[in-house]
Amino acid sequence: QFPFGRRLPCDIYWHGVSFHDNNIFSGQVNKFPGMMETVRKITLSRAMRTMQDLFPLEYNFYPRSWILPEELPLFVAEVRMMKDSNPSWKPTFIVKPDGGCQGDGIYLIKDPSDIRLTGSIQSRPAVVQEYICKPLLVDKLKFDIRLYVLLKSLEPLEIYIAKDGLSRFCTEPYQEPSLKNLHQVFMHLTNYSLNIHSGNFIHSDSVNTGSKRTFSSILCRLSSRGADVKKLWSDIISLVIKTIIALTPELKVYYQSDIPAGKPGPTCFQILGFDILLMKNLKPVLLEVNANPSMRIEHEQELSPGVFENVPSPVDEEVKVAVIRDTLRLVDPQKKKRKDTHNCILFLRDSLLGVVSAFCIIWSMKDKQHKHHSLKLS
Ligand code: ADP
Repeated sequence: QFPFGRRLPCDIYWHGVSFHDNNIFSGQVNKFPGMMETVRKITLSRAMRTMQDLFPLEYNFYPRSWILPEELPLFVAEVRMMKDSNPSWKPTFIVKPDGGCQGDGIYLIKDPSDIRLTGSIQSRPAVVQEYICKPLLVDKLKFDIRLYVLLKSLEPLEIYIAKDGLSRFCTEPYQEPSLKNLHQVFMHLTNYSLNIHSGNFIHSDSVNTGSKRTFSSILCRLSSRGADVKKLWSDIISLVIKTIIALTPELKVYYQSDIPAGKPGPTCFQILGFDILLMKNLKPVLLEVNANPSMRIEHEQELSPGVFENVPSPVDEEVKVAVIRDTLRLVDPQKKKRKDTHNCILFLRDSLLGVVSAFCIIWSMKDKQHKHHSLKLS
């Protein structure tokens, strides 16, 4: 740590929040310029919309979204049109303030007229999105998946997906949204930061019980029930790659402006947190991408009223230590000097008219096994 500035150049720079240093001329930085802006809710929705317009089937893993306030009239008109053409359609929508996190300011509505346009949080720009009403439940609870993805390089595009992630559970049994339960955040929102305040939250020392579990423990359970876990993984990998492809043009603009080609500068890599919801039919849906996923491996425990202590969280430790360790191994400059011996590189060839093929690796250096996956984007 260099609280008073750095004296010597480093091989790897680990910045806390964003790429912010113009005085780095070599080495690698753990943030891409502009990543925070690129994955904000509105920017992400715009990027996904562009791709949905071009490749509607390939990008159907992102819920239909509208940007507020500018697309409010469009939202109202489109919902009215869909309701007219299908009177039995009883949708629910989720409104999420732009730049918000940890469930801050989020609410569910049944009708466009329920959008709150006044008040400090409500007047902020936001995304309104189709609410996924039939999520996969485990123990009658809604949960989402946090997957860690290493964007190792933009050009060539190299993506690694951690083999294990976290499953974060709601703390009230799930019911499909109705006017009666729309406000019950412990039933509808899976955010750890919200559910930790529920009396039902369970901190567990085991990876397959409690309110935060490993994703692999969920996969085991699904597999024992006969689910096609291989197909699920391949859908998730495809979702991750397509999302990064959608973000790439914007990221390249930031990159070229902050680190112009030909000038000495660092290269960048970044760990991203992908939040994914599984539908009842096991289809993965992208909720959001986090540029700064929490890497905490402890949680706070209240010893006595008002007195807190940090205690280790075995589930977080199991997943996150592996992510950081493997990231450091993958960006290890010594390894680069020895010539990159990995054959586990995501490799993307694109041509405007042809087919885009992407090969991606689920990474797990722990057991030294690399699984190769391929998919085709038409
Ligand atoms: P934040 O950045 O505030 O956490 P998210 O987009 O992750 O915002 O949404 C918070 C939570 O709301 C998610 O973890 C998920 O449980 C729920 N959620 C978000 N979008 C949807 C959706 N389209 N359908 C169903 N649930 C959603």
